[in-house]
Amino acid sequence: MGFVSLYRKYRPVKFSDLVGQTGVVKTLKNSIRYDRIAHAYLFAGPRGTGKTSMAKVYARALNCRDDEEVEPCGVCDNCRRIESGQSMDVIEIDAASNRGIDEIRELREQVKYQPGEGGYRVYIIDEVHMLTDQAFNALLKTLEEPPDNIVFILATTEPHKVISTVLSRCQRFDFSLLTEPEIAKRLKYICSEENVEYETEALNMIAYSSNGGMRDAISILDQAISFSVGALTPEKIEDLLGKINISVLSELAASISQGSSSDSLDIIKDLQQRGRSVDRIVSDLLDYMRKIVLVLNDGYEIATSGISEARKTRLKEDSQLFSRSEAGKIMQELIELDSRLRYADRPDILLESSLIRLCENSAGIQETSSAAGIEKLQRRVDNLEKSLEKLTAGEKGEDQKVQISSRKKVENKKSYPESSETSKKETAEKSIEREKTEKKEARESPDSSAKEKISEVEPEGVDLPWQKILHEIRSHDIKTHAKLKESLPPRLEDGRLILEFPEEKEFHCNQARKEKQFISRVVNKNFDKGVEVIIRLQGESEFDGEDLDSSSANQSQEAEDSNQEPNLLKELQQRLGGEIITVSSQAVKKCQGGNNHGYEEDDAKSSADAEEDAAEAGGA
Ligand SMILES: [Zn+2]
Repeated sequence: MGFVSLYRKYRPVKFSDLVGQTGVVKTLKNSIRYDRIAHAYLFAGPRGTGKTSMAKVYARALNCRDDEEVEPCGVCDNCRRIESGQSMDVIEIDAASNRGIDEIRELREQVKYQPGEGGYRVYIIDEVHMLTDQAFNALLKTLEEPPDNIVFILATTEPHKVISTVLSRCQRFDFSLLTEPEIAKRLKYICSEENVEYETEALNMIAYSSNGGMRDAISILDQAISFSVGALTPEKIEDLLGKINISVLSELAASISQGSSSDSLDIIKDLQQRGRSVDRIVSDLLDYMRKIVLVLNDGYEIATSGISEARKTRLKEDSQLFSRSEAGKIMQELIELDSRLRYADRPDILLESSLIRLCENSAGIQETSSAAGIEKLQRRVDNLEKSLEKLTAGEKGEDQKVQISSRKKVENKKSYPESSETSKKETAEKSIEREKTEKKEARESPDSSAKEKISEVEPEGVDLPWQKILHEIRSHDIKTHAKLKESLPPRLEDGRLILEFPEEKEFHCNQARKEKQFISRVVNKNFDKGVEVIIRLQGESEFDGEDLDSSSANQSQEAEDSNQEPNLLKELQQRLGGEIITVSSQAVKKCQGGNNHGYEEDDAKSSADAEEDAAEAGGA
């Protein structure tokens, strides 16, 4: 005996071999038990869901001479003849390979004769929707006057293409896609019969990627067994399928949600080095994000139907990394990316730029995600609008030379920069000087400046909403949250939040320090007045290990204000839809003072615009 594929070797011969479709099995068994055999059945459903297998088992059961059991016995003459393909009473017609007109004509001749060997003659017509109209009509005539003991089983993946007069004469069964556990169970059975060692996750992966079809699942298993040495592992299956493991996908998604473009770029680089195509990365990530979005939108049942318990748990956990809108945006971007990839010469570049954009968005979302944050933003914009009104009315302050030409509000009028380049520079230099002095002071006498601040800041009788803060941190950045959980219970002391780590948790402490700005931002959302965050090892003195520059910047209200200025301007610009023509001296100061936070682009743009406008003004 030569090589027999696993699919053929493990074709079901009994009802109990069939996977899933329990409703169909029950009804068919009852039809035999109570002798209510229909003349024609329609088995409709996706490929690989067991339609022809079911038809063959039914044909056997109808012809088996063992009357005790509904299941075919496998030992009587009829069973053996059918099994060896010698029976004249089970006839398979593949409508897909020949459009069927001759076969159906022949069939009409044959049906006049009674089946031999007792029992039923069963015609199994696979892909029946492929028959030509003539063949359909010939078939219909037979169905209209069905001879006794003749059974038709019509199988199709596209029941809507079967003419209604045929449909109406059939008892219809709809076959559903098999679930992941159903397929995995069958694969396990085959592996144990074949003495193949396996890890359960490997079989789950095959089941998952076969999209509910048993035939595909078994042929993947067949390949996996013949190509690999030793036990089947998830890694081997991944390589065979070119698939990406769900844990890698969730890492990638987490890095996007945390706005870490470097992490996400590393992950895709690594995947590409392991031979995963951009198409594959995008489609697997899209598939994963779709499930996350479903889970977040009360679609848990849909997202997890038919998948293994391990995957369910994973999805549930991962979905907590995202807000609804965030996940939706990521999915939207991936859908667009997916459609653009088809026409791209360099899909890798498209993927990279999409990831970077997504990361930038998430970083933005992190800053303004909470309702409180949006409210705050709204207030700031309102305030800005007020000061803008004042400005246009002519009350211009030295530090607020903000001019905006708004397309909405100022239709045809254009305003031009009034402050000269030199005066801007002068102010800028002055304020750099001022900031330097302040930093120096802060460094020299941290105690005094801290105390000074405390007296203003001390929130009287305020409890520390630490759990709330932790929760919020977790929703933005699960890694930082994990670090913070290692700290000792924090305490609020003189307007400072002291976060101490046990000595053996130095690593966590250092990692938390790196995220100090972020932590501080979340902490401060919970207080009306500024709270300084101190992160240190237990027993460390006041400022050991603190980044002096950043702590002094935190202490300097002035510096904080100036940090916000370009952001406010941006917000205002977005809200009014205008262009920034001149940016205040403070932004210029930062541009020259090396204390940049990524606003160079705006500054450059604004001065370019200013020049352009000036040129136009000269021309007019
Ligand atoms: Zn039998």
